[in-house]
Amino acid sequence: MLNETMTALGKHRSTIREIFEYGNRRAVEVGRENVFDFSIGNPSVPAPDAVRQAMLAEAAGDPVALHGYTSAPGAADARQALADDLNRRFSTDYTADNLYLTAGAAAALSCAFKAMACPGDEFVVLAPYFPEYKMFIEQGAGGKCVVVPPSVTDFQIDFDALAQRLNQKTKAVVINSPNNPSGVVYTEATIQRLAALLRDKARAFGHPIYLISDEPYREIVYDGLTVPFVPHYYEDTVVCYSYSKSLSLPGERIGYVLVPPRATDSGDLYAAVCGAGRALGYICAPSLFQRIAARCANMTSDISVYQTCRDLLYDGLVEMGYTCVKPEGAFYLFPQTLEPDDRAFCERAKQYDLLLVPGVDFGAPGHMRISYCVQPDTIRRALPLFGKLAEDYRK
Ligand code: PLP
Repeated sequence: MLNETMTALGKHRSTIREIFEYGNRRAVEVGRENVFDFSIGNPSVPAPDAVRQAMLAEAAGDPVALHGYTSAPGAADARQALADDLNRRFSTDYTADNLYLTAGAAAALSCAFKAMACPGDEFVVLAPYFPEYKMFIEQGAGGKCVVVPPSVTDFQIDFDALAQRLNQKTKAVVINSPNNPSGVVYTEATIQRLAALLRDKARAFGHPIYLISDEPYREIVYDGLTVPFVPHYYEDTVVCYSYSKSLSLPGERIGYVLVPPRATDSGDLYAAVCGAGRALGYICAPSLFQRIAARCANMTSDISVYQTCRDLLYDGLVEMGYTCVKPEGAFYLFPQTLEPDDRAFCERAKQYDLLLVPGVDFGAPGHMRISYCVQPDTIRRALPLFGKLAEDYRK
């Protein structure tokens, strides 16, 4: 007898993966250039050349140390280098002991949830949200995932809806800004209001409510925007970060959990994150990329191409009559579908080989996610097809 839930999870891919695999099959039939795969968030710009240089420099060193286990939270010098980078950018005073290095943000989130979850605990996520949260919270950590419906006019936070869902059992609220799938960046006013609400509720319930800030897109913002650094606004913040997007290294699996020293029970919480990593069998984050991240933490890939894509796609779709909140970061657009049934709409889009992800998967039905981490030319060639699709709905 096997674990039925895990067997089912293994047999059914996520919708995003399903569409991505469909795109690969379709590419064999009609040619890669005729398939407009907007399904997956795989960075389309290369890692900075400094990453290659750092790999070469590391490869010239001691191969035993290079490929060996590091200490479980990550090599102390790599953690200190990442803490120094944060301190430089955000005027903080973090040390190696505040950082636990992980195999990307997915592992960081899994460790944070498992570190916190006690029987009956609830974790609140705000739609539209990254679908794997539910998996990590419920299947990984044994918590309950509570969803706050989206504020569809601007994709900031619906505070009344959030307040209604906070209760004695709330262990943490999860935010993700810049957001996948909406591309929206929470304003400073939103973060301040959120901090005030959580402080009030924590006082009323007599226990801390942690804020888990999932930030793999922190550096990917447009028009010179600055993303508020959440721990400055709310002390009980835990940051989950990844170099998958900022350095275009998603396959290398490197990120971290930051437990700031001023968070409630910081020392024990950090220990619990380490314990969760141990329970989940992570051992240590990939050792070569701990070193690469330490050397390249202050850089990003050339993200200007994402802004070109955002502008082309947003302007093009709005001109055709699609309704969309203008994204200010990440590399996703989240327009309304032209019929309420977003799954049916995305199925219809396949007739034009436009591969889009239904919003219902992110807790926001009636929308579609378009990942525009593609070449600008792909968008130029896809726009007329979005036009034909819109025409179909006018007939
Ligand atoms: N969180 C969000 C919002 C994401 O979009 C992703 C990946 O797309 C992750 C977490 C997981 O990132 P990683 O590749 O670092 O595990």
